[in-house]
Amino acid sequence: MEQSTVIQLLIMKRFIENYNGEAFDLIVIGGGITGATVAYEAASRGLSVALVEKSDFGSATSAATSKMIHGGLRYLSTFEFALVRESLRERRILTNIAPNFIHPVPFVFSNYKRDKISAFKMKIAMLLYELFSFDKNWMKDKSKKMPAYKIILPEKILRLIPNANKKGLVGAQLYYDCVSHSPERLTLAFIKSAIKYGASVANYTQMEGFIMEEGIKLKTIKGVKVIDKIKNKKIDINGKLVINCAGPWADFILDKAKSKSQTITKASNNHVLRRSEGIHIITNKLVNDYIFSGFTPTDKHFFLVPFRNHTLIGTTDKEFIGNPDEYKVTKKAIEELLEEVNKSFGDGNKIKYKDIVYTYGGLRPLVEEQTEDVYNSSRKYEITGEKKNGIEGLITVEGGKFTTSRRLAEKAVDKALKILK
Ligand SMILES: Cc1cc2nc3c(=O)[nH]c(=O)nc-3n(C[C@H](O)[C@H](O)[C@H](O)COP(=O)(O)OP(=O)(O)OC[C@H]3O[C@@H](n4cnc5c(N)ncnc54)[C@H](O)[C@@H]3O)c2cc1C
Repeated sequence: MEQSTVIQLLIMKRFIENYNGEAFDLIVIGGGITGATVAYEAASRGLSVALVEKSDFGSATSAATSKMIHGGLRYLSTFEFALVRESLRERRILTNIAPNFIHPVPFVFSNYKRDKISAFKMKIAMLLYELFSFDKNWMKDKSKKMPAYKIILPEKILRLIPNANKKGLVGAQLYYDCVSHSPERLTLAFIKSAIKYGASVANYTQMEGFIMEEGIKLKTIKGVKVIDKIKNKKIDINGKLVINCAGPWADFILDKAKSKSQTITKASNNHVLRRSEGIHIITNKLVNDYIFSGFTPTDKHFFLVPFRNHTLIGTTDKEFIGNPDEYKVTKKAIEELLEEVNKSFGDGNKIKYKDIVYTYGGLRPLVEEQTEDVYNSSRKYEITGEKKNGIEGLITVEGGKFTTSRRLAEKAVDKALKILK
């Protein structure tokens, strides 16, 4: 690597401090994994790109994941085969392009007599999962090869996971999926690669409104109004097209484009974004080298992940109503997670509140509104041009998973190139 590139990567200048008014091809709002991959994809295809993030890069939902880069075994139960295949393909691509961040890990997915999805159905699901990941070992790094799944019986399960519940245990699927212990660092890696291709980025820069030309039928976006939160300075950034990658805040941004005053602090009801809270707790080591997972008695799922000599336990999936800026993990949410996990693991040795060494949570941006319970809501994504809503020059990206963000970015940039001609 050239010395100048190394220096640029180390310093990461906030372009906003010396912005000279140039018009970018693309302005990206949000520096989570979606904004980072969109900026990378667009800059590497030769577009001039600006990215603004109101907090630090990758500090919101993208830092709050369950650390999995996975196909989403459970989406097979809702017949979302295309999503599972896309995720498994992305798992392979990400492992190849970011081998330092993504690692295969063995999963023990348990089956108990009480489970609504029987051991037989799990076996069919595993066969499909294997089929959809037919290319899983097309890896540059041969140490990342993932063996085929196998069924294991209670005796072996208890050897691998000594504190699994014994009562009603019928068997488990032993298979491989991937984890990324630092999704926020992987996000930063995409931002750094975008910079390498010429993108201009600025953290602590909040988009506050649009620069807009109002026609009779159409509003045309010409850029965004931001505030540099470090220098406390308002700046207008010019651009031909804006991509809204604000994750759980995406509807707030959209409403700014739709409203006259642009000073919205509360999302209106005419959007389709739902927010689902998910929390995790970290305790001292409870599992060794295997991720232990299965269904809870309420037909959700739990998992215990080996994590930096500790254990990461998750997760919850509960609709969040309110302003995402005010979201924080509550004691009630922790107690609810503990109750579910203690029914599913530990064989009577309960994890107590005082055993928790750390906790974190985030809000999943979900686009499907039909399901009553957000747990069953699809993890698909949507990329919408806003011309049909009378707004030109804006694309909104909503929903999705960390795992599929690279592919989402490819599609979003395809759409951007069509609009930019
Ligand atoms: C509990 C939980 C567990 C999950 N586990 C997994 C998993 O294991 N595997 C997986 O693949 N996916 C997982 N996901 C999903 C994944 O985390 C998300 O799909 C992904 O992180 C969304 O990224 P994003 O960039 O769209 O959103 P975010 O990371 O939230 O980024 C949006 C950014 O926009 C910024 N922003 C908002 N408004 C403005 C503004 N006005 N101006 C400037 N910037 C603004 C925010 O500060 C934020 O940084 C999980 C999600 C949750 C909540």
